[in-house]
Amino acid sequence: MPLPKAELHLHVEGTLEPELAFELAARNGVELPYAGTDELREAYRFEDLQSFLDLYYELMAVLLTEQDFADLADAYLARAAAQGVRHAEIFFDPQAHLARGVSMGTVVEGLWRALGRSEENHGISTRLILCFLRDESAESAFETLEAARPYLDRITGIGLDSAEVGHPPAKFRRVYEAAAALGLRRVAHAGEEGPPQYITEALDVLGVERVDHGLRCMEDPALVERLVRDRVPLTLCPLSNVRLRTVDTLADHPLPAMLDAGLLCTVNSDDPAYFGGYAGDNFAAVRRSLGLTEDRLRELARNSFLASFLEDDEERRARYLAEVAAYEFGDAVS
Ligand SMILES: [Zn+2]
Repeated sequence: MPLPKAELHLHVEGTLEPELAFELAARNGVELPYAGTDELREAYRFEDLQSFLDLYYELMAVLLTEQDFADLADAYLARAAAQGVRHAEIFFDPQAHLARGVSMGTVVEGLWRALGRSEENHGISTRLILCFLRDESAESAFETLEAARPYLDRITGIGLDSAEVGHPPAKFRRVYEAAAALGLRRVAHAGEEGPPQYITEALDVLGVERVDHGLRCMEDPALVERLVRDRVPLTLCPLSNVRLRTVDTLADHPLPAMLDAGLLCTVNSDDPAYFGGYAGDNFAAVRRSLGLTEDRLRELARNSFLASFLEDDEERRARYLAEVAAYEFGDAVS
């Protein structure tokens, strides 16, 4: 049995496996420029951020109907359940779909077909987080929030993702203020490839409650002290960091030093179809490459539930934490 865990950094568009991409392409009459799943899987071995993003947006063309989004989310939930995920807070990128003429309603209601039945079908509780593309304008983010207003009963919070450098958090101050006024929770990617100041800005200007990635906080001791003192969760994605060359190898990953510093770290998969593995694969990889002890792995799992947006269901959070405390490790974690 895998270690029970919550996944807090997961882009649903990044869970599109080659087999499902071809299935949806056939269903929708979309032509993919690959001979088959083997050739497409070969393309998933990209070398840098830009080639990843090019492929990522190219493949989104197969996602057109509510059922497509439902099938995408359902396939993720099935894989996540097999790797011990008990709770998932799932990012989606509406601007990437709106730009293709796919409506907010199609995306949200489609995802909800899977999320609304996730507990009975997969034993996973879920939350949905709408992400703005930070390389798009602040006005576009605002229009996206407006388009989401009819669906806010389905959406727990907002996030900020895509190419970080040159797009500081402060660009999105106004839309984060508006989202806060609507009662939405706030997270943002910061300090993955961008500098530590972006993390500080996300906290001070956007009022984020969690920082996605946040790796580069380690360059600023005062910031580390603040994150530890305020118990700000960081959603780390080790296999993603290796694939996008944020770290050279997994053995160089700062996760052990971050835990030693007292940071509230969690381990997540980011875009698992592209980065070499789902949540449990990430746990297994850091256990193997970084020599994390069972106590550390249990701490990471506990952190994932502590950092989750389960304030409206503390009874459930307590149940998950009890599962983590009672977990007995075998050799084949995680
Ligand atoms: Zn991400």
